[in-house]
Amino acid sequence: MNLAPIWLLYTQKQVFEPLLQSTLTCPHCGCAKVETMPTDACQWYYECSACHTLLKPETGNCCVFCSYGSVLCPSAQLQQQQ
Ligand SMILES: [Zn+2]
Repeated sequence: MNLAPIWLLYTQKQVFEPLLQSTLTCPHCGCAKVETMPTDACQWYYECSACHTLLKPETGNCCVFCSYGSVLCPSAQLQQQQ
């Protein structure tokens, strides 16, 4: 018999809480703005409030936050955890 104590299993299981605030920096005009990221879907388009350029993710990124944000999107944060 080699059973781990039940309390050990609980302490090892960490609840994942992603950061939801990311600073998006426009590559065209340099305008930076703090945006709240949606947790249910990736945001593919983002319009800069200063120059109104429609930003799209760079190749290989799933959303504009992964390409231009200071914090990766929640789903990318989750992948880093695993
Ligand atoms: Zn801009």
